[in-house]
Amino acid sequence: MGSEPVLIFSKQVKKSQKNFIPKMDLEEVSLENILPKEYQRTDLNIPEIPEIEIVRHYIGLSKKNYGVDTGIYPLGSCTMKYNPKINEVIARLPGFANIHPLQTKNEGALTLIFEMAKLLGKITGMDGFTMQPAAGAHGELTGLFIMKKYFENKNINKTKIIIPDSAHGTNPASAAIAGFSIIELESNESGEVPIDQLEFAMKEGDVAGIMLTNPNTLGVFDSQILEITRIVHKYGGLCYYDGANLNPVLGICRPGDMGFDIVHLNLHKTFSTPHGGGGPGSGPVGVKEELIQFLPEPCLISTRSGIYCRENSNTSIGYIKAFWGNFGIIVRAYAYIIALGAEGLKRVGQISVLNANYLRVLLKSKYNLPYDRLCFHEFILTDKKIPNGVTTEDIAKRILDYGFYAPTIYFPLIVSGAMMIEPTETETKTSLDQFYDVLITIYKEAESTPELLKKAPFNTPIGRLDAVLAARKPVLKE
Ligand SMILES: *Cc1c(COP(=O)(O)O)cnc(C)c1O
Repeated sequence: MGSEPVLIFSKQVKKSQKNFIPKMDLEEVSLENILPKEYQRTDLNIPEIPEIEIVRHYIGLSKKNYGVDTGIYPLGSCTMKYNPKINEVIARLPGFANIHPLQTKNEGALTLIFEMAKLLGKITGMDGFTMQPAAGAHGELTGLFIMKKYFENKNINKTKIIIPDSAHGTNPASAAIAGFSIIELESNESGEVPIDQLEFAMKEGDVAGIMLTNPNTLGVFDSQILEITRIVHKYGGLCYYDGANLNPVLGICRPGDMGFDIVHLNLHKTFSTPHGGGGPGSGPVGVKEELIQFLPEPCLISTRSGIYCRENSNTSIGYIKAFWGNFGIIVRAYAYIIALGAEGLKRVGQISVLNANYLRVLLKSKYNLPYDRLCFHEFILTDKKIPNGVTTEDIAKRILDYGFYAPTIYFPLIVSGAMMIEPTETETKTSLDQFYDVLITIYKEAESTPELLKKAPFNTPIGRLDAVLAARKPVLKE
């Protein structure tokens, strides 16, 4: 299997490029003064193979791939759920897909962005939104720039930010890039923010506020959330809500009502764009009224005569991305929200929580559940109770043999041997039960044939990789 050609170039059957490439009908231009000789191409190696071989080649590759359209994809923190195909069709409508951002008459597109900002405002309880950021982490950076500008504008110097250790890894990274130093708070035994330590850190002064991933990477919704925002505000700080995984709280509660001042969402997770695969994303940022003036430019403002674009304000943090962000992602999310409506969004929240808790309760019979409490969209298991030295990695590899994707593993870092499982709201009870059966079968294999698990996977195009070698000396070319 490993020797099967992966590149179409290795399937070349004829070498007659001269006949294959049409004759140039333009005058030949000398590249002498344009491009150094070493960069000039002397021949063009385009594979020349029959159509049927091309079709077989790509269909073969697609069959090696795994995606949500193939089966359950319980990759925690990523919300790998099924997204309705109709939203892909809508995003490809010529009126959306073929416009240029500099086209002056793109009022339809601007209206969609504007309406989307209003919808997200309603969903999160925020007063203003920018749709520009291109990803979750980019939204975090935008939000932190806004936080910085807010204090600069008041002539207050704040250099630190509080981030619990259960936060998504991008939180401290974004805060550091925005120029803050980080005060890490160790979660308490129930996976929540330790309130007295939060107050202690805020009292020290010089703290701009808190960045909270909620539900956090343990799948825990902090029961003290109102107390957290109250304390941060009491000492003049701002509260940032990482809402990348908004699905479990959709239609149920809103960061704005919890006292948060800034929130980012991942449209590519919660709202109908597949996450991962390197495609474009969208991480809109919402703020409360007094922070609207700091939103990036261009900013859409609605008046009685229509929507207009605010530019060159002296309080804005400026441009964060060219034009209006990744428009196609916004179109998909808009279609998704409009189709579901308020009731549908609430069902998303309820079912994502129900599905995660269903698996959590079933699996804790055999797997160690370090935070044994109601979870939200995801939960953590560990390999602590697995017999014969079988590890999280072995289990994850073996899951692939049974035709499913593995959960996120060894994350969050604060739980040793973590398996982070997020079934998402779009899985049926049947597929959840199948996944459960696979995990129980693997547990039994750990009891009876642990050496098998150590060598898994067996049914994938490539077997177990030497992880160290792959990281240190990766072979990136065929
Ligand atoms: C995915 C995720 C992010 C980062 O989003 P990207 O689009 O990958 O940059 C941030 N926070 C949480 C909680 C996430 O799950």
